[in-house]
Amino acid sequence: MSSAAEPGPLSRARRSATVRAARGYIVGVALILLTLTVLVLSQSRQHELDRARQLTRLGTEAAARHVGLLLQQADSITAALAREAEQTGGPRARATVLMDLALRLSVDAPHVLELRFYDASGADVLHTLNPPVGQPPASVRGEEAFRFHRDSQTTATRLSPPRPSAASGRWVMSLSRRLSAADGRFLGIVVAALDLAVLEEVFDSARLGERAAVGLVEQGGRMLLRQPFRPEAVGLRVDPDLFGLGDLPHAGRSFEARSPVDGVLRLYTAIPLPAHHLAVITGVDPQEVLQPWLRSALVHGAIVALLILLLLALGQRLVGAISAQSRLGSELRAANRRLHDLKLALDMHAEVVVTEVSGRIVEVNERFCQSARGSRAELIGLDHRALRSGHHPPAFYRQLWRTIASGRVWTGELMMRAFDGRSYWMETTIVPFLGPDGRPQQFIAIRNNISARKEAEAALARAMQALESSNNRLKSLAAHDALTGLANRREFDSRLDRELRRAARGSQPLALVLIDLDHFKRYNDHYGHPAGDSCLQALARCLRAVVQREGDLAARYGGEEFALLLPATDAAGATRVAERLLAEVEALALPHAASPAGIVTLSLGVAAIRPAADTPEAAARLLEAADAALYRAKRAGRSRLSVGLLDEARAAAPLPFAS
Ligand code: GH3
Ligand code: MG
Ligand code: MG
Repeated sequence: MSSAAEPGPLSRARRSATVRAARGYIVGVALILLTLTVLVLSQSRQHELDRARQLTRLGTEAAARHVGLLLQQADSITAALAREAEQTGGPRARATVLMDLALRLSVDAPHVLELRFYDASGADVLHTLNPPVGQPPASVRGEEAFRFHRDSQTTATRLSPPRPSAASGRWVMSLSRRLSAADGRFLGIVVAALDLAVLEEVFDSARLGERAAVGLVEQGGRMLLRQPFRPEAVGLRVDPDLFGLGDLPHAGRSFEARSPVDGVLRLYTAIPLPAHHLAVITGVDPQEVLQPWLRSALVHGAIVALLILLLLALGQRLVGAISAQSRLGSELRAANRRLHDLKLALDMHAEVVVTEVSGRIVEVNERFCQSARGSRAELIGLDHRALRSGHHPPAFYRQLWRTIASGRVWTGELMMRAFDGRSYWMETTIVPFLGPDGRPQQFIAIRNNISARKEAEAALARAMQALESSNNRLKSLAAHDALTGLANRREFDSRLDRELRRAARGSQPLALVLIDLDHFKRYNDHYGHPAGDSCLQALARCLRAVVQREGDLAARYGGEEFALLLPATDAAGATRVAERLLAEVEALALPHAASPAGIVTLSLGVAAIRPAADTPEAAARLLEAADAALYRAKRAGRSRLSVGLLDEARAAAPLPFAS
């Protein structure tokens, strides 16, 4: 039983497997959620970066196109002016014509702030903007651009790093071109000063964010311009390989590099301007680009973390609930097994019947069917009153009903009647099943057939009764004389004692008559002993006949001697009784051939006493007195009575009665 009460190791293992599965499922879901979130966030990050790269590329392309156009325009202007100056052998010859042309051409190119000519010596020959008053025209002899054109035969333009223009007071970038004579001789240079503000505006439009940077770089690696403008960046050399300048394809190139200007790691796109051996490089700071993504990722991540925490918390509760449910399940199974065992034991041992409050039988077990001699089908639905035997009075059933209707258990013995009419005894315990309202809804009666015990009890009672009657018979035998049926000497002695005490208590007299057959020895001798016995029996009948009062006792005192004990009788009363006895025996006239009287006669001694409470010797005195009176009667010739006198001196308060 105890092993069934505790959930076994098997059910414990099954339970922990279920709990493990539930835990694994929840952790799995949380991990999937986490993984999906990381995946989505990393994808959206990548998407943001791709978008930034794409936008950068578009912006860079647009800026490169725009800058290309501006440079091309400046190129065309310088080309036209160079042609004009070369035809006249240098800029000095037709300065006015050149000036006109320059002014005309610069009208359509607002970004070209000024146009200048320098002769082969580097002297300022002509420019569209006059230098500020008091400032001598500058020579460019020492400048790098001048030296480049003088020493190189190329007719291509050259762009110089920005610098402030004295004439306009603004930052400019100079685009310069060689003036060559027909024989290739160096005639000077023409310079177009490009408004840096215009270029900066173009570059600004390509910048994606505050920390983005746009640069105009020579394909050799020299930086001409950087936006945001940093003076130290002008002329800075960048690693052409690092910045993808070597073999830069027409479509450009994207790459990641650390800026040599501010050390920021950026995503760069470089687009070539092949006509000018330049490249526009735009870089965005991924940290900046990813700011909005980071913000939304944080919010997103926080929500998912919260969800996961919630999932884990709910999961923990769920696991707890599953564990509790599973434990309850195994406990329930164990309890069911225990209940089943108990029911089995009960069914083996007792008869069980379940009834509704109405008395209708709803459930019986096999033993009950056997006792009732009916099948389950016959018994279920039957009113259990049909099994009453009629042995018990209605009050018995009322008391039973009162007990169980009040929700208490009733135990008792019931006699029932089976279907075949046979009665049987059941020791019954009726337990009420209480409903939620505390009132009985069903009753379960557990019964044990005690018919055998009842029969044994009845047999025992009969045996006891027989024993008692035989005891009584024994008792009466012990107190009576076998021959005459009168009380024997023992009974006489105890009655004498009792009656003396009773007489003393009630201050009543007690009389004694001693009777002796006359010449009975002779009778025996003459008629034989059996005849003597018959004679004794005849005398006993006479004694019974004269003793009429309740409480009077006729006893065989011994041999052929008899005694009459007469309570509440004085000597006179006793004498009347003795006389009646004499008359009775005389009337019998039993022949006694050996006696002088010819018939059976008696001699009687009568005595009476009124005993005091403290006279234990009263019995002896009464007997002595009666015996003495009998002796006197014998002596006086027999067949008579004599009344004895009690000794006055020895008696405490006896009243002598004498005839
Ligand atoms: P008395 O007139 O002086 O009394 O003379 P008695 O012969 O009657 O007295 P005794 O005491 O000499 O004799 C008594 C006789 O009673 C002796 C005995 O045989 C007889 N007897 C005593 N008990 C029984 C008895 O139970 N059955 C018979 N048949 N005789 C008995
Ligand atoms: Mg005698
Ligand atoms: Mg005698």
